[in-house]
Amino acid sequence: MMKRVAILGAGGMGTALALLFAKTARSVQLWARDPGQASELVRTRENARHLPGVKLPVNVEVTPNACDATGGANLIVVAIPSAFLRATLEGLVEQIPPGIPVLSVVKGIENSTLARPSQIITEVLGRRPVAVLSGPSHAEELASGLPASVVVAGEAESLNREIRDALNQGTFRVYTNPDLIGVELAGALKNILGIAAGVCDGLGFGDNAKAALLTRGLVEISRFGVALGGDFSTFFGLAGVGDMVTTCYSPFGRNRSVGERIGRGERLEQILASMVNVAEGVPTTRSVHDLARQRGVEMPITDELYRVLFEGKSPHAAVTDLMIREPKV
Ligand code: 13P
Repeated sequence: MMKRVAILGAGGMGTALALLFAKTARSVQLWARDPGQASELVRTRENARHLPGVKLPVNVEVTPNACDATGGANLIVVAIPSAFLRATLEGLVEQIPPGIPVLSVVKGIENSTLARPSQIITEVLGRRPVAVLSGPSHAEELASGLPASVVVAGEAESLNREIRDALNQGTFRVYTNPDLIGVELAGALKNILGIAAGVCDGLGFGDNAKAALLTRGLVEISRFGVALGGDFSTFFGLAGVGDMVTTCYSPFGRNRSVGERIGRGERLEQILASMVNVAEGVPTTRSVHDLARQRGVEMPITDELYRVLFEGKSPHAAVTDLMIREPKV
């Protein structure tokens, strides 16, 4: 059983996981990078910025000190946006004891290295058992206790089962899967489709267009996932189709909202500057575009979204180019 769980990152997902682990673990240590945020959490027992109205249970302790958080932990959960993951872990490396297993809930791919979060964790923290958790899991819904189901994947089957058993409870159901690469890639790639679906919404397109976009999007992200070593079937499970549905249809989905605003004519810089949360799909579109080129994987939707986000192409022109592109057998 997980007696003591340390969570690195007090955003929405880190806090929601603190609530879930607190139901079975003796104590949960929630590390907040910003000492101001940590003292606010200690004082109010509420993450007002990300999960307003949800109180932290008594066995969740908040600290800005990573040594206090990770000392004696059976599991370290990493809930840090992919763009800050490497630098944050590098700053904490001396304070994280060797050997403790890590669970990553990060859904992205690093720009400069094109590395997956679990690869960054191993590079920075040294070899240790690593699992990833992914699937349709909006933090606000998890924190409200609404039913949800996710998948935990990793090479160590016993760790996957331990995490599943610590999290499985009335409203939360966890499946295990040995395909770490596929689950981690699916979690990152669906964010690209989330932005594309938002563009579709912002342009005022209807159900047919969005269904076609997502169906073809699923084909291309699974093609990419298989080329990088994932299992095809993973993309049709919770981490793939499941999370794609949540991300592409949620009215408050961060990636979908970025896309919707792009479709309505706003500039990316202006949108990102106005957001409190991180839309992982933005840097991931760049990484996947570059990786697909490197590996020779055909990804027409990702390519067009890349041009819209980073090269100033109009969303209408991107849609036209997708519609008239050379038919494929
Ligand atoms: P958004 O970041 O688009 O809100 O999606 C979050 C997510 O991964 C839900 O599972």
